[in-house]
Amino acid sequence: MGKIAICPGSFDPVTLGHIDIIGRASKMFDKVIVAVLINPNKRPSFDINERIGLLSEATKGIKNIEIVSFDGLLADYAKEKNAVAVVKGLRAVSDFEYEFQMALTNKKLNPELETIFLTANSQYMYLSSSMVKQVASFGGDISDFVPACLYDKIYNRLKGVS
Ligand code: ADP
Repeated sequence: MGKIAICPGSFDPVTLGHIDIIGRASKMFDKVIVAVLINPNKRPSFDINERIGLLSEATKGIKNIEIVSFDGLLADYAKEKNAVAVVKGLRAVSDFEYEFQMALTNKKLNPELETIFLTANSQYMYLSSSMVKQVASFGGDISDFVPACLYDKIYNRLKGVS
């Protein structure tokens, strides 16, 4: 069996920054599982099926990925799926502390699991789902931030919502 990696996240909604990381991970591993967090504490702008639908549309060209919903412990889920690594994007220094804590916790829970950080593409260094929400809610142009094929779906949902 080939090497499997997991890219976890909320993807609410998916951005070009996410697609960049998923695409790069798919070249490094035989299979990438994109695990979309159900996250009951947060009220998402897009429900779990919508987030999965948007991700599927944006990653049509990538053959070795599977998109799934996920809740619970990532360390356990990785074991269940025989994944060897978690791949995450690292943007500014502000991501570091939290990601380091998560990586160490997952290592403790599942010592076989590695966390790999890919440096964000400089173009997407300051891009986040919440930034997309903020810009779109005020009617701003989000075409540099989200996949072109998803522009209308994302923009129409977020416009006028604050
Ligand atoms: P966000 O932090 O935007 O809410 P998620 O929780 O959905 O995003 O993030 C999922 C993964 O994608 C995380 O590993 C996060 O670091 C990464 N990521 C998010 N945005 C970017 C970006 N612009 N460039 C690189 N990686 C990113």
